[in-house]
Amino acid sequence: MVFSPSNMKKSTFLKLKMREASFISRALLSSRHPVLAHLIPMRRCNLACGYCNEYDHTSKPIDLDIIQKRLNKLADLGTSIVTISGGEPMMHPELDQIIHHIRVRGMIAGLISNGYYFTPDRIKRLNKAGLEYLQISIDNVEPDEVSRKSLRVLDKKLRYLSEYADFHVNINSVIGGGIKNPDDALTVARRAVELGFSTTVGVIHDIDGTLKPLSATEKDIFQQVKKLGNKDHARLNWFQDSIAEGKAYQWRCRAGARYLYICEDGLVHWCSQQKGYPGIPLDQYTMEDFDREYKTEKWCAPTCTLQCVHQVGILDNWRDPQKTPAQIAEEQKGGVGEMIGAD
Ligand code: SF4
Ligand code: SF4
Repeated sequence: MVFSPSNMKKSTFLKLKMREASFISRALLSSRHPVLAHLIPMRRCNLACGYCNEYDHTSKPIDLDIIQKRLNKLADLGTSIVTISGGEPMMHPELDQIIHHIRVRGMIAGLISNGYYFTPDRIKRLNKAGLEYLQISIDNVEPDEVSRKSLRVLDKKLRYLSEYADFHVNINSVIGGGIKNPDDALTVARRAVELGFSTTVGVIHDIDGTLKPLSATEKDIFQQVKKLGNKDHARLNWFQDSIAEGKAYQWRCRAGARYLYICEDGLVHWCSQQKGYPGIPLDQYTMEDFDREYKTEKWCAPTCTLQCVHQVGILDNWRDPQKTPAQIAEEQKGGVGEMIGAD
C-alpha cells in the first residue's frame, strides 16, 4: 500500500505518510510480523459480479466482539495495516466500530468497497471512525451483464467522496481478461484524477484463468492508465509488465506470513484465491506458522495478479529464499527425527 496526494486534508495526508514511512522502515528492519491483513467481516454483497466467487446474498454479519478479538490478535502479531473487505463490508452494521478498533490498536485502517453505499453522512461517519484509505474497483463505464461496478452508476458517489472524504481514495480499473471495452479503463482513470483521487490499473487473467498477452490496443491503454496513475504504485507493480506480455513472473510470495487473509470464519488463508492453505484459526496462529509460510514457495506465484500481495512481497524479495512445501516437510521430518534420535 503506497499512498499519494489526493482529496485528503494536507495535515491528515502528512500524518499518514509519516506512518507509512515508519511501517516500511519497520518492515525492512524485521521480517517477523505481518505487514498487511485482509479481514472479511461479512460475505454478503449487494451485487453479483459475473467473475466473483467471494460473495453470497444471505449470510449474516460477524459480531463486533468476535471481529475485535481477531483485530486484537492481528495487533498482537504486530500487523501494520488491516484492510476490511468482503463481500461488501459497507453492509456490516458495525463497520465504524471495526474501523475505530483498528485505529485504537495502532494499525492503519483501510477499506475495499464497491462504492454503492457512500452518502455524505456515511462518509462523514467513516472520517470520524478514522478510516485512512479506501479502494473502489470500477470495471466499466456502462453496467453490463458481468458487472455493475460502473462509472455511470457510481459517479455521484465519487463526487460525494471527493467533497467529504478525509481519507485517501484510490480508484482501480481493470484491463485484460476479455473486458469488453478496454477504453473504459482510461475513462475511469481520467475521471478519478479529475476528482483528486489516485488511480491504479489491474491486469487480470483471461476468463478461463490462463495468462494471455494483452492485445496491442490493450497494452497501449494499459501504459496510458499507468502514466495517469500513482507513480509509486507503478514502480512497485513492474510484475504487471510481464503479466501484460502473458509471461510468468518470478517473485517470493509471503502470503500466510507478511500478508494474511482472514475469512469470515476467522481462518487464515494465503489469499482470496488460495483458500484452505493453511486454513488455521487466527486465534491459534503462532510465529511457527508464520515462519513456515514465510519460507514456503507458492506454486501459484508465477502467474499471480494480486497487486497488494506483490507489493508486500517486495519488502523481502531480496532476502530469505523460499523452499517448496515438500522440502519444508522433509526438513520438519528431519528436525523431529533428530530430536527423537537425541532423546
Ligand atoms: S462487488 Fe465485489 S464482492 Fe460483490 S460480487 Fe462484485 S466483486 Fe464480488
Ligand atoms: S502467489 Fe498469489 S495466488 Fe498464490 S498464494 Fe500468493 S497471493 Fe495467493
